Amino acid sequence: MAKAKSFADKVAKNTIDFKKHCPKCGEAYANIQLVKAEKSASGSWRFNDRHVAVCKCNDKEVVQ
Ligand SMILES: [Zn+2]
Repeated sequence: MAKAKSFADKVAKNTIDFKKHCPKCGEAYANIQLVKAEKSASGSWRFNDRHVAVCKCNDKEVVQ
C-alpha cells in the first residue's frame, strides 16, 4: 500500500533550486509560492504572493 506523503515531500520532488535543510527535522526546505487574495479598503481585490520555505515542521501551518 502506498504511503501518504506530505505536501513538502511532493513539492521537494518538483523543486530543484533549494539547498537549505531544516536544522530540526533535517528535511530540505521546499520553496513554495503562496498566493493570497486580499480585499483592499477601496473594495477591489488584490493578490499578494510570497515565497516560503516549507519543511515537515511547518507544512501543516503553511498549507491549510
Ligand atoms: Zn523542519
